[in-house]
Amino acid sequence: MELKQLYQEIILDHAKNPRNKGKCKDYNHDAKAHNPLCGDKVHIYLNLDKDKNIKGLSFEGEGCAISLASASILTDTLKGRDITFTKNITNNFLNMLKNKSKISLNSLSEDQITTINSLSGVQEFPMRIKCATMAWHALLSAIEKKN
Ligand code: ZN
Repeated sequence: MELKQLYQEIILDHAKNPRNKGKCKDYNHDAKAHNPLCGDKVHIYLNLDKDKNIKGLSFEGEGCAISLASASILTDTLKGRDITFTKNITNNFLNMLKNKSKISLNSLSEDQITTINSLSGVQEFPMRIKCATMAWHALLSAIEKKN
């Protein structure tokens, strides 16, 4: 299978069957983001424990396939991780879309890297970059913001 085709299938799978949708149990951080260009909306919920580990991570949202897939992939990749890792991977991801760099973090599995890379196709469509980055920006604000 061609890589481009594989990436499309990953995005469609996450958009049709989003992981971690709804409010996660006992969330203590949350943040919303909105993409007026496309009409996408996302609300990130996060349960951060005393040791700065993400115990719960989920989202609610509506919008295009890319925005939903991106939020779903985010929750799937970062649930159970600590804050340092989460900030690193988020910056890595935003950098990938902005500067067309590659995701490179040792503690991700090959599968996880392929899944995240599936969103790299939007690099070619500047209008759609916000669809893919919105949830990740919301995650960063949720971390900073307490309920
Ligand atoms: Zn969109």
